[in-house]
Amino acid sequence: MIVRKAGLATRCIHAGEINDANGSPHTPIYTTTTFKFDSTADLLDVVEGRKAGSLYTRYGLNPTIRALEEKLASIEGAEAAWAFSSGMGAEVALFLTHGRKGIVCIGDAYGGTMELLASQLPELGIPTHFLLGSELEGLKTFLQQGAGLVFLETPTNPTLEVLDIAAISATVHEYGALLAVDNTFASPVNQNPLELGADFVIHSATKYLGGHSDLTAGALMGSNHLLTPVWPWRKNLGTTIAPEIASLLMRSIRSLTVRVARQNATAQALAEAMAQHPKVARVLYPGLPGFPGHDVARKQMKGFGGMLTLEVKGGYEDAVRAVDRLKLFAIAPSLGGVESLTTMPVTTTHHGLAPAERARRGISDTMIRLSVGLEDAADLIADLEQALG
Ligand SMILES: *Cc1c(COP(=O)(O)O)cnc(C)c1O
Repeated sequence: MIVRKAGLATRCIHAGEINDANGSPHTPIYTTTTFKFDSTADLLDVVEGRKAGSLYTRYGLNPTIRALEEKLASIEGAEAAWAFSSGMGAEVALFLTHGRKGIVCIGDAYGGTMELLASQLPELGIPTHFLLGSELEGLKTFLQQGAGLVFLETPTNPTLEVLDIAAISATVHEYGALLAVDNTFASPVNQNPLELGADFVIHSATKYLGGHSDLTAGALMGSNHLLTPVWPWRKNLGTTIAPEIASLLMRSIRSLTVRVARQNATAQALAEAMAQHPKVARVLYPGLPGFPGHDVARKQMKGFGGMLTLEVKGGYEDAVRAVDRLKLFAIAPSLGGVESLTTMPVTTTHHGLAPAERARRGISDTMIRLSVGLEDAADLIADLEQALG
């Protein structure tokens, strides 16, 4: 309880941790799939919900998983959290529980989210709608038609567009709908969507929460009454996190605030250096004063994040040449780890889109997305300069 009111760094370290009889400073890993009871009456107390207790790991009723979920809820200031085997696992369970009347997706979203919303959920008869960040006036029409869930990411991938969570949440709630924000890019260090009015926060914990490119996991945070009906979907989709991964993720979250603070600072330094570079046409980063989303970002974010996108001068071939020359930035389609990574949206996340659709979304052939790790800023800047030179 004291921990819930503490600062974020303290909560990242101490929230949820089990103090075991041996004095371990870390929550032990309960790899067990099932848990035994002294009597049938004791078992029924847990099965029928009269007593909290461990029962079966796929249900999430496992001490390591429950400890992680307390930490996850605490770091987003939520009443409750469910941990999943992946970020997509969290999204599917949310959409099947709360999206059946229709889902509106605002702005750009992760490729898997787009595939799910654009083709897979409509196959099940779930209506889905899409609006660019510049088409927000269309939101009311879909809400009037009965859409019950609005989904967005901010900052978006790969253009780092910043969407105004508080303003969108006000519109969504006017129509009795719910707002879910994918907070993967910002992390709870830089942005707290629930404080800004969102009903759900989703994380691909594979990214900043995990932070070391060594685990796949997801999280959904929100109020008890909205998360309770999601639980049976996770249970029977079978997308519960494994206890071993839950433990690894708890280990990682302990250093989240230190990692993200450094990633914010390094990304800002890279953005400022690249904005001066003769071979760079444009730097997309919410921390740059000239950037279109800068003012909203200053209002709703505590830091501007570790993701930035460069548009190089010339054509596709020039961008590929620069990417292929990078030595510290590895070419890999993920983000949020201690090691710096790079991808070109046109060859990875947005490869499947028709060129006209990419253009409509503001994604060009010369964009290079950077996920800034924990290396020295000077080394990363030198790497970019040699690659562009
Ligand atoms: C990676 C990612 C996802 C999907 O997460 P997985 O853990 O790979 O399932 C969802 N949203 C965003 C913004 C992501 O970057």
